[in-house]
Amino acid sequence: MHHKEKLEFTPVIGIEIHIQLKTRSKIFCSCAADYTNDEPNTHICPVCMGLPGSLPALNGEVIRQAMRAGLTLHCRILPTTFFFRKSYYYPDLPKGFQITQSDLPIAADGWLEIHDDAGRPKRVRVNRLHLEEDVGKLRHVTADGRIEGASSSFVDYNRSGLPLAEIVSEPDISSAREAVEYVTTLRRRVLHAGASDVDLEKGMMRFDANVSLKCSDGRWGNRVEVKNMNSFRALERAIEYEVKRQGSILAEGGEVMRETRHWNDARGVTTGLRVKEFYRKFIVEPDLPPLVITKEQVDEALASLPEMPEEKLVRYVGFGLSEGDAAVLIEEPAVARYFEACVTAGANPLRAGNWVRTEVLRVVNDAKVSADMIAVSPEALASLLAKVEDGGLSTTLAKSVFDALLDGLSFEDALKRSGASDGAVDVHALAASVVAANPDVVAEIRSGKDTKGKKVKFLVGLMMRESKGSVKVDEATAALEKVLA
Ligand SMILES: [Zn+2]
Repeated sequence: MHHKEKLEFTPVIGIEIHIQLKTRSKIFCSCAADYTNDEPNTHICPVCMGLPGSLPALNGEVIRQAMRAGLTLHCRILPTTFFFRKSYYYPDLPKGFQITQSDLPIAADGWLEIHDDAGRPKRVRVNRLHLEEDVGKLRHVTADGRIEGASSSFVDYNRSGLPLAEIVSEPDISSAREAVEYVTTLRRRVLHAGASDVDLEKGMMRFDANVSLKCSDGRWGNRVEVKNMNSFRALERAIEYEVKRQGSILAEGGEVMRETRHWNDARGVTTGLRVKEFYRKFIVEPDLPPLVITKEQVDEALASLPEMPEEKLVRYVGFGLSEGDAAVLIEEPAVARYFEACVTAGANPLRAGNWVRTEVLRVVNDAKVSADMIAVSPEALASLLAKVEDGGLSTTLAKSVFDALLDGLSFEDALKRSGASDGAVDVHALAASVVAANPDVVAEIRSGKDTKGKKVKFLVGLMMRESKGSVKVDEATAALEKVLA
């Protein structure tokens, strides 16, 4: 018993990720890839339904995006690859086989840098990225439309034939946390490249994990494939569960069964799949020629890649932002673009960073919209921050101006509604800006030459005009005298 308690287990984890490549149409036909708001089976044709006599034609955009995705993972692009038919019969695959590159991939031998649990940098090798077509989606529905306890099954083939890239890692991952860092790093790079929208809620990124344990007494547990994880949290929990489950079997001296298990997210457990593995026969796809990629195509794909998120992070830290704050800003490309547009429009990067991380991200998350779509443009935010910077506007008032801008008000109306136009604070700022903009007039006043007060009236007039008459003359005069004093 004593030596058993001393047993230690090192998880050995490899991850397979399916991502949907970003293209207008499906992989082998011209059906539109985006069916988000459409009825089932409205994006289908003889090719993606696999009807006899139909011929697949490879979509060039799929090749380009697969190369770009592979290059963001530091893969090399293979000059010649083939497609195969992976045979199995299931209702989600009417033609009886799936077209896939399988282990003759378009991209191979890449890596991604993550951190181990002690925070040290480590590389996870990417074995390959290969192309394949997606299959239909089964829906089990009861007579009254519920999913539970289903009495009927329907198939929606809108998803059938969407372009998938399967990305297979080497078993270099040692914990659930590392696994999540690997998949989030990968997602971020592919998203910034624009090679996929990797929207997890829309099923554009799905995970399987191969988990086994190495025991400190020299034993190796068998490998278990865990399927059906559709979120980072599910991936993390499934791996934690498997490591625990396999650890307790090995600790009892048992043997881990080599099998495929299914992650049940609602129950938080993995269960053995009782269905038999399909016999999967591969033959070369006779209807598709070998895929040949030229060096020029690879160079073009490489040149088309934008700045990667890790490079952005370094640049933002160069602006003076903390690494943690910069990491929040680089997560989504649209947020990074917003932040940079704000800085380009003259905003102080630290202040802009704070506002984007709090106010802008609040709107993005609450309304579930892209930062590109929010009602306050980065330029408007930059103008607002300039007012805060000048000392004329308190942060509290600025936030209510921001909210008014969100409601679609013009900048001036937003200032008015928030009370930023007629408060003492704003009159003071107005006076300060008028003083700053008219150094010659101010010099005359200060030298005592303006005995009749004409110059002061001139500046008050400017303030009246600037505020479109919303400030009172005596308030403006008082504020001006304060600033000049
Ligand atoms: Zn089609």
